[in-house]
Amino acid sequence: MTIGFEHRDGCPVCGSDNIARLCEISYADKRMREFFAAFYQGRAALHLLREESYRVVTCNKCGFLFQDRILDSDGMQDLYRHWVDQASSLNKKKLARAKLFRQYAGQVQTLMQMAGGRPDRIRVLDFGMGWGYWARMAQAHGLDVKGFELSQERREYARGMGLSVITELPAPGNQFDIIYANQVFEHLPDPLATLRQLCSRLAPRGLVYIRVPDGRGVAHTLEQYGWSPGLDAIHPLEHINCFTRVTLTRLGAEAGLRPVSPPLRLNWGSLLGGLMREFADRFVTTHLYFRPRN
Ligand SMILES: [Zn+2]
Repeated sequence: MTIGFEHRDGCPVCGSDNIARLCEISYADKRMREFFAAFYQGRAALHLLREESYRVVTCNKCGFLFQDRILDSDGMQDLYRHWVDQASSLNKKKLARAKLFRQYAGQVQTLMQMAGGRPDRIRVLDFGMGWGYWARMAQAHGLDVKGFELSQERREYARGMGLSVITELPAPGNQFDIIYANQVFEHLPDPLATLRQLCSRLAPRGLVYIRVPDGRGVAHTLEQYGWSPGLDAIHPLEHINCFTRVTLTRLGAEAGLRPVSPPLRLNWGSLLGGLMREFADRFVTTHLYFRPRN
């Protein structure tokens, strides 16, 4: 038995086939074997990968960084269902510190403010809802929330918390006022196709929030020092898309979106931290608020 791989020839963001290789390491290489053994604690079926390589490439046209050899959909299911430890993934949310919930509440309140109107009339899609903790926060603020999730285990857990969960997107049209995707787009084989599908369900003045690991400096690090396990933004097989603010903005533009600034939110108790966060959110990081261009 081998795990199936797929090859991404063109740039997933701009479609260009002008691609340069930055890094290639066989999965049979000791560094990879040690990384997988430690990260997945022996659950990764690494012997099935040994014919394949971890490859990071960059698009010479738009600068996007990505892995061009990725698992096929069966392989991805295996990875996320069996290699990733479900109990510890759930515990990351269940036992999270107050900071995570404050962050969720802040995102929900910012999106509500930007959407305007009565909360119960704001239709939200939490795309890739995971265990449902963000969706539950949105629901507690009175929003009309649906979650989309591929993992059956996570769907059942979210339903158990009283959330409305869907397994297929509704027909295209004016379906959602807010689409929220936190730590999802780095995992998708065809991020542009997925974003276009989502946008075709968005209200004309709707909002899209996308948050991904920040890939700033990763290309430079790979070129200068090669791959190391600390480069989480380009985690083998999982973070197959590595965005910077520039390439995430480009992805949005390809799907007909433009970035918009969130309203200023400052907390007098931590003014400096708040100002730094506001600056980062506006100019640096890879969490972006978008609206349709027209
Ligand atoms: Zn490109």
